[in-house]
Parts: sequence; C-alpha cells; structure tokens
Amino acid sequence: MLTGMQIAVIGGDARQLEIIRKLTELDARLSLIGFEQLDHAFTGAVKEKMDEVDFSNMDAMILPVAGTNLEGQVETIFSDEKVFLTEEILSKTPEHCTIFSGISNAYLNGITKQTKKNLVQLFARDDVAIYNSIPTVEGTIMMAIQHTDFTIHGSNVAILGLGRCGMSLARAFHTLGAKVKVGARKTEHLARITEMGVTPFYLNDLQKEVGDTDILINTIPYLIVNAEVISKMPVQTLIIDIASKPGGTDFRYAEKRGIKALLAPSLPGIVAPKTAGQILADVLSQLLHELYAKRKEKE
Ligand code: NAP
Repeated sequence: MLTGMQIAVIGGDARQLEIIRKLTELDARLSLIGFEQLDHAFTGAVKEKMDEVDFSNMDAMILPVAGTNLEGQVETIFSDEKVFLTEEILSKTPEHCTIFSGISNAYLNGITKQTKKNLVQLFARDDVAIYNSIPTVEGTIMMAIQHTDFTIHGSNVAILGLGRCGMSLARAFHTLGAKVKVGARKTEHLARITEMGVTPFYLNDLQKEVGDTDILINTIPYLIVNAEVISKMPVQTLIIDIASKPGGTDFRYAEKRGIKALLAPSLPGIVAPKTAGQILADVLSQLLHELYAKRKEKE
C-alpha cells in the first residue's frame, strides 16, 4: 500500500486514468492537475489547478509519456487550460520528490538537473518498452490496413531498426505472411534478424533495398528515410514512421514525390489506452513502493 503518499498526476491522456485508478486503490493521495473535464471522480484524488497545489509535501510527480514539450508545456487531453511544469514548481517540492515521465527532452532534463530532482524515464526501461511494443505493433498493423488496398500477407515490408519495437514488428508482420526485411547497423542485429527467419540488410544499403517496398516502417529516431532513400521507392509505398517526434522521415520530400508518409505517435494510447495505462501503472506502483519503503526507513 502507498498510504499517505502524496502524488501529483499532471496531464496526459486516457492511459493516465489507469495509473490514477491503481494508485488510488493503493491508498495514495493524488492531486490531479489538468483533469477538470474528466467526468469520473476517484476517491482519494482531488482535481486541482497548478497554482492551487501545495507542492511542499509532494513525494512524486507523474507526467504523461511525452513528459513536457521544449517550452515546458504538459499535454492535457482532459483540460483546455495550458499546464506548464517549471523549475520554480520543482523547487517547491521536497528533496526526495521523484519525477516520473515516459521519455524526456532537453527542457525536462534541464529543470530536473537544476533542482536536483531524480527524473525516472519509464520508457528507458526495457520491460516497459517491450510490453509497450505490443500495443504499438497492433496500432501499426491497424494503420497499414487503413492506408493500403492490398493485404499485408504477401506484401514487401521493410522495417528499419531492430530495437524493442523493430523486433516485435518484424515478428508480427512475418507471422501475418508479409515478406519482411529488416535493416540494422550492428552485425549481431543482422544475425538475430536472420535467426528470426526474415531477411537482413545493412542500413548503409537502404537506398538499394527499397526499390520493391510496399510498406516501410521506421523505428529509428534519426533522419534515415531521407530524400535519396524516398527517391528510390515506388510511389505507391506507404511509410509508417513510429519513431519519436519528429520521426526519421523527410515528410516534405515524401509529399513532393506523392508518397504517403505517416508519422504515427502514441499508438498504444490510441489503440489500447487501457492496456498501455496498465503497463505504466504496474511499473509505477512497483517503483513507488520502493520509494515509500525508503522514506519509511528514514522516518
Ligand atoms: P530502441 O529499442 O532504442 O530501438 C531503436 C532502434 O534504432 C535500434 O535498433 C537502434 O539501433 C536504432 N538506431 C538508433 N539510432 C540510430 C542511428 N543513428 N542509425 C541507425 N540506427 C539507429 O527503441 P524502441 O523502443 O524500439 O522505440 C523506437 C522508437 O519508437 C523510439 O523513438 C520510441 O520513442 C518510439 N516509439 C513510438 C511508439 C509509437 O506509438 N509511435 C511506441 C513505442 C516507441 P542500434 O542498436 O544500432 O543503436
């Protein structure tokens, strides 16, 4: 149980509701910031505005998966008000207050460093990223079906990157009967791709490999699907770029060539917010229990 623990949940989408549900069940006291338009009420959770919250006894803050933008704004689906997380707010929290986010950026790194706060990026954890790859794959399949007039079965699918998502995508599209090839830069990844029964290629050869691609799925957060690569693709190729914003595709050039290229962020939050929220809620409750135990030890 997390009885007496004071936690601020700041912004986010439907995934946050699973986190709120779980933490209230565990008896934590929650301040919900950026949730005024949420009809549902949770026992033990109070909807508040940023300037009404007493941060002096806050044990933890939970941000949405994206954290903040580069100006410090936190995305709030359940509010029309703009919510910002600032250095000033963090400096009002006690020393032990831990900040949880999915991913981070220069702004969030900067304010947590300045205020000496512990920032935990949940998506840096392999377990979270691997579980999260399951709804990500389902969302990618949904997009492939919605934006093509041919079956995945029998189509030529190129996947870029063999990370947590790339591996799950390769396996799923292979199982659906696509002719899958996966591009990577490490020899051990090429070996793993071969072992998985799909076709490996070096990313250096990307331009040569895309001439017959029906669907290209990029997972690499770096401009890899550049104009040279796009110029070698058939015009009917569908590009689905799931890498974090701004993706790894030259979207301007793709549009110029008449190639449909889609940046597809937050797929788990779109196709399976409940599951995606439960994945985060489970790991958060484990981490908060550890914090709680440490705090009790000190008392
Ligand atoms: P990951 O495990 O870190 O995999 C990233 C892959 O990119 C690795 O194969 C890595 O290869 C490769 N890579 C990185 N930089 C590269 C470079 N400069 N050149 C060539 N290859 C490079 O990440 P993940 O968990 O699979 O997630 C992939 C991306 O999708 C991330 O940006 C993540 O934020 C995003 N994501 C999006 C959604 C969504 O809904 N759209 C969902 C989950 C994740 P090496 O091992 O060789 O570095």
